[in-house]
Amino acid sequence: MTTVRFAPSPTGQIHLGNARPALLNWLYARANAGKYVLRFDDTDLERSKREYADAIETDLAWLGVSPDLIVRQSERFDLYNAARDRLVAMGRLYPCYETPDELDRRRARARAMGRPPIYDRAALSLTDEDRAKLEAEGRKPHWRFKLDAKPVTFNDLIRGEQTVNTASMSDPVLIRGDGTYLYTLPSVVDDIDLGISHVIRGEDHVSNSGVQIELFEALGATPPVFAHHNLLTDEQGQGLSKRLGSLAIAELRADGFEAIAVATMATLTGTSVAIEPVASTDELATKLDFSMISHGPARYAPAELESLNARILHAMPYDVAAPRLKALGLEGEAMWLALRENLKRFDDITDWARLISGPVASAASADDTAFLAEAAALLPQEPWDETTWRDWTSALKETSGRKGKSLFEPLRLALTGRHDGPELRILLPLIGRKACLDRLA
Ligand code: GLU
Repeated sequence: MTTVRFAPSPTGQIHLGNARPALLNWLYARANAGKYVLRFDDTDLERSKREYADAIETDLAWLGVSPDLIVRQSERFDLYNAARDRLVAMGRLYPCYETPDELDRRRARARAMGRPPIYDRAALSLTDEDRAKLEAEGRKPHWRFKLDAKPVTFNDLIRGEQTVNTASMSDPVLIRGDGTYLYTLPSVVDDIDLGISHVIRGEDHVSNSGVQIELFEALGATPPVFAHHNLLTDEQGQGLSKRLGSLAIAELRADGFEAIAVATMATLTGTSVAIEPVASTDELATKLDFSMISHGPARYAPAELESLNARILHAMPYDVAAPRLKALGLEGEAMWLALRENLKRFDDITDWARLISGPVASAASADDTAFLAEAAALLPQEPWDETTWRDWTSALKETSGRKGKSLFEPLRLALTGRHDGPELRILLPLIGRKACLDRLA
């Protein structure tokens, strides 16, 4: 059974960069008939907020991701405490008393002597009396995981064989002096408890994976398969930080982008798959396998989202648009087909629909009043179709002697109030004779 998880910390909104692992996990679960766990990494009780967690659920639902299970680390401390006790009993988790200042000084000294600035494990040689003395001074221990200090090799589904040498790392702190857990231990305990088969996350976690594999093994579990994807960056290759509020999923939604356009950009940027409109995240799942994810950064270009969004709207069938049109108080397949090519955002349709239903304020120049009256006199009787425009303007060309822009532009400005827009050949029958006469007058 394939089981994956997306594990955000609910300390803020998720943005496009977070949507990438959210979706890659989702697509992997879909493609393998697997299960998707949404795990809130909310052990930091100060910074984590329920409202952020709820907002993340809303954002995921909008993107088309519906978790099979939601867990909150803040409700699972018993499991972490049990794992902590086992590791302490095995001697793999040990108390340390150094203050941050002492650690800084030791790192500086190590560097000065040309040694790597890694933790020297001094705390491992403390005797019971030493510890009792330190605690009597009021020091509270933080707890480090004793690494195996050896190369850890794993086969990454995206990056191929990876080796992380834990000999070059400090024993990681799993529990702070105030007793709170850092990310590492709860993550591994949950991955074991929830039967996570594949950990799919950003490549900033590759060396964590080395540590975590040792922790899985220390806890008697087989490590999951890992897949580390490239991170989304801006066009210059800089990381997308949370400061980029405009890339928050909620912001993109408020901006009127199609969810599937955002999901596609989050997924396919930085892969060898061409960015084209798809109907659903299920369709995305059929397009992407992990071998197509590139190893370099995934540069996100806002113009590509704009263009993809427009292409999705321009090709959107009426039956897909109809319920959304209805919500805007609009209907009509001919209207939709005539106007959809002009849309940047779905809701732009409200403005464009006014070209048909009015009101339209003529933008024609007063100099053209006589010409427009002449045009009105020549307007054919209904019924109209897409040949009406050609017949009408040919006749008008004859009588007025105008051609090209001087013939067409005043008509467009009078009939639509603007320079650009759909072909009048198509619009004319939708506007109808009576409204045309009003606008020409
Ligand atoms: N909360 C962690 C993060 O957002 C989860 C990483 C993981 O997937 O293990 O970085």
